[in-house]
Amino acid sequence: PLQDLINNKKIDSNIKKDLTIIQRNVDRLLQLVNQLLDFRKIDSGELKLKITQTNLIELLSEICSSFEQYATSRNISLQYLHKDEEIILWLDREKIITVFFNLISNAFKYSPDNSTITIEIERKTTEGKDVDSYVEVRVIDEGIGIEKEYLQHIFDRFYQVQGHHQRGKAGTGIGLAISKEYIEAHSGTITVESVPGQGSTFIVSLPLRKEQLSDFIELSSDSLSEKENKEATAQLLNALSATIESGWSATSNEVKKSMLIIEDNTDLLHYLANRFSGKYHVTVADNGMRGFQLAIEKNPDIIITDIMMPDMDGITLCKKLKNDLRTSHIPVIILTARTTEESNLEGLEAGADVYIQKPFNFEILKAQVKSLIDSREKIRINFTKNIILQPKEIVATSLDERFMMKLMEVIEKNIANPEFGIKDLTDEMNMSHSVIFRKVKALTGSNVIEFIRSVRLKKAAQLLQKQKLPVSEVSLMVGFNDAKYFSKCFIKEFGVSPREYAKGIMNENQLEEEQE
Ligand code: ATP
Ligand code: MG
Repeated sequence: PLQDLINNKKIDSNIKKDLTIIQRNVDRLLQLVNQLLDFRKIDSGELKLKITQTNLIELLSEICSSFEQYATSRNISLQYLHKDEEIILWLDREKIITVFFNLISNAFKYSPDNSTITIEIERKTTEGKDVDSYVEVRVIDEGIGIEKEYLQHIFDRFYQVQGHHQRGKAGTGIGLAISKEYIEAHSGTITVESVPGQGSTFIVSLPLRKEQLSDFIELSSDSLSEKENKEATAQLLNALSATIESGWSATSNEVKKSMLIIEDNTDLLHYLANRFSGKYHVTVADNGMRGFQLAIEKNPDIIITDIMMPDMDGITLCKKLKNDLRTSHIPVIILTARTTEESNLEGLEAGADVYIQKPFNFEILKAQVKSLIDSREKIRINFTKNIILQPKEIVATSLDERFMMKLMEVIEKNIANPEFGIKDLTDEMNMSHSVIFRKVKALTGSNVIEFIRSVRLKKAAQLLQKQKLPVSEVSLMVGFNDAKYFSKCFIKEFGVSPREYAKGIMNENQLEEEQE
């Protein structure tokens, strides 16, 4: 049924996002249960491997890919080094994926941001022999490392080094124990070398030839096609990924912010798009005209634009963006090679939020982007609070502020009218439906209906506070016909019922009086 819901076209996409997370966690749960069952099988000598011929070089590359985005988000460089394009082994794909996924996710868990994680793979010869007999995979991190006294325990079931979990990452301590069992079932070995404070290296060796495997292994009866293998791998990796970031609550919940980059230098454009694409949905344009169109179409969370461009330069573009209600809320960063103070001023006059000179340091640009987006969120919260509580005290300067003032005015004027809705709002504002929707969402974070309701409720709170009117009357004054429904919404917004709210205020007043 879960799968049906996810495929159901009628279901809202936000709900689908949650369903997908549920699906991933269910898969992960199933996976964990299977691992626990495998412990039982191992203990009773019943673990069987389903081995198929597999190119380990490719399999590892697929595993590494599933960490790419996460690596970018923490600015960790994940390197995969291999000389060969193909090393074919007989192995149980699912088990081997589990092993390396755990080793790599451990490396991430116990490494700081901005460090490097390296995966190396090569064929090796046993001493005294002249043909290659095994492959060695090393997972190397520059993380916190493991103290000597703990090293011997980390392959024990459920063992976790104390104090290692400061990153708040969930774990069960079965990863390495099951990895060791799986690798040994393949007649391989897994070892670790570690220097506390400098990093750890996990080394897995697997035999190259089938004869080297033990007799307990069963050949896979269901030989899958390459496509089916790929799909199975993708599904397993997806389930495992549920634990990468913050354990069970998987962060795919967080919606990626979108970015528009406008730059006529193709190399720089590609470079920026590449660097930002891990964390943002990036759209690009190579001239100002196209950039302006895209800004209207896509409504990005941030815009980075070059200053010198044919057709329409960055300053003109920025002015246009800031003077158009459809785009005026979007923060703009201007990149420029011009270093004079003059152009700096020109840029700010155009309303650019930040001005960065070329050649720039990418980290600084990245930090600016983040801080602009974050501060938008803060402004958003303030906007709603301040405007509602002190509508008259706000000085409207920017286009956005003027829009909010107008919006509030119209809503306040109609606040007692329970029928007042979007249609009346668009009429009175004399703006299109879509512009109002977009602006209200961008500036307050709510949709129009929610916003109108929240204004009604805040007004109600003000009335209860100042005028000590009965709840039923207040409810009518702010356009709720039904006092019960009013109470319900009020509780949702403020966490207390209108009556309690009024009483609370009265008590506070009383206290003050008594103190006086
Ligand atoms: P999970 O079952 O989700 O994998 P886990 O990662 O905590 O949980 P293991 O993979 O078995 O469990 O690892 C056991 C312990 O070994 C970890 O809790 C950690 O303390 C330590 N450890 C493992 N890999 C590393 C590493 N690369 N650097 C430092 N410590 C590590
Ligand atoms: Mg682990």
